[in-house]
Amino acid sequence: MTNLSRRAFALSFPAASIVAASALSGRSGGAQAQTLQPKAVVPAAQIKVGRFTVTALSDGYADMPFSYFPGRTPQEVEQAAGAAFAAKPGGIRFVFNQYLVEDGERRILIDTGPAGTLGQSGQLPDALQSIGVRPDSIGAVIVTHMHQDHMGGLVAGGRKNFPDAEVYVDGRDVAYWTDPAKRAAAPDFLKNSFDISAEMVRLYPKLQVIDGERQISRGISIVDLTGHTPGHIGVRIEDDGQSLLMVSDMLFPVVHPSAADVGFLFEQDRPAAQAMRARFFPQAAEAKALIAATHMPFPGLGRIVSDGGRLRWLPAEWAHQG
Ligand SMILES: [Zn+2]
Repeated sequence: MTNLSRRAFALSFPAASIVAASALSGRSGGAQAQTLQPKAVVPAAQIKVGRFTVTALSDGYADMPFSYFPGRTPQEVEQAAGAAFAAKPGGIRFVFNQYLVEDGERRILIDTGPAGTLGQSGQLPDALQSIGVRPDSIGAVIVTHMHQDHMGGLVAGGRKNFPDAEVYVDGRDVAYWTDPAKRAAAPDFLKNSFDISAEMVRLYPKLQVIDGERQISRGISIVDLTGHTPGHIGVRIEDDGQSLLMVSDMLFPVVHPSAADVGFLFEQDRPAAQAMRARFFPQAAEAKALIAATHMPFPGLGRIVSDGGRLRWLPAEWAHQG
């Protein structure tokens, strides 16, 4: 299956999953379901980084077939997923985490999820509402790269969903994803990202185009993590001796960080993605960096640690930090 449209994903779910997912969403039809089903619990996890409060939210998830990981056979990926208790009928579950950064003066949202264009997604508006945050109170949105699962929420429904936000995005991705020749040459499963990019540029004409590592707000800086896409960036949040590095798609569940030579179908320049991971994984382990990663199990907070020379993901405590 290479078509990543919402319909294709919906069709790939067994019937029981669809029922469970729609019941959980709180939007199932029928009066009986409405009265019997509790409202969805929308996940949120909060940590402090110096003066910042960082809240992990989730737009939902999609299961990625075992065949989507070049560098390993589908059988190898399925076996690894099984060993990690992470094998779903549809593949490996990718959650879509977003991170809201607040310091009492400004709200900055990192990424906006696929907003219904992939898998079981579109929960971010409910998640924001559940913590009392109105979209028009968000002063900036940082788009880590222009894949649909990171920016769909900006333009879902053909609307400017964050009307007062400055949108930060890397210039290399803007050039790539708005190039008609690149779109024409791209496989079908990437066309959505090109189309959503065009919509984003149309609805947010005053983009803050990033052209290198720099601070965009006191304690919030852009980090260059080119590879997954040409303009793939991370965000460092730093204050009072504490820091959190949001690394977006540097790590995928099950396959990373134990190997850097496994990629993902959506990556066009696999050697570039592999080279960045080969550099980044040991560096992050050495630095004991607290990391936030979009697709790691919610809330996507953890560290890369060396375990007898083998790198692994160690989830970080977030509740009851004290
Ligand atoms: Zn992604």
